[in-house]
Amino acid sequence: MPWLAWVLRRASGFRAHIGRCAGWIVGDSLDTLSAATGLSRATMLDIWGEVQANGAKLASCPRHDFQSEDPGRLGAKWRCAACGGHVSANQAHWYNTGRRHG
Ligand SMILES: [Zn+2]
Repeated sequence: MPWLAWVLRRASGFRAHIGRCAGWIVGDSLDTLSAATGLSRATMLDIWGEVQANGAKLASCPRHDFQSEDPGRLGAKWRCAACGGHVSANQAHWYNTGRRHG
């Protein structure tokens, strides 16, 4: 939401008020997303929590060693043997390519 960033930059005097509104907007889009995906709000918050935890694992890992969780299946996740974080096959491909080139 680039317009929201613009509003937040501009309206320093109304920061607290805008913050509450932004919270309401985010909450509202979660409900919209919930209706669109058929996933419950709690499920989406679970997924979001998992995404955050995965990101933290990946960020704290000194050197990933990605291996496919299911080598026969296209679109399988690739998990790092060192940190346990997972990425898409495409992300693992480019990370491994970078390691070979580096
Ligand atoms: Zn790792």
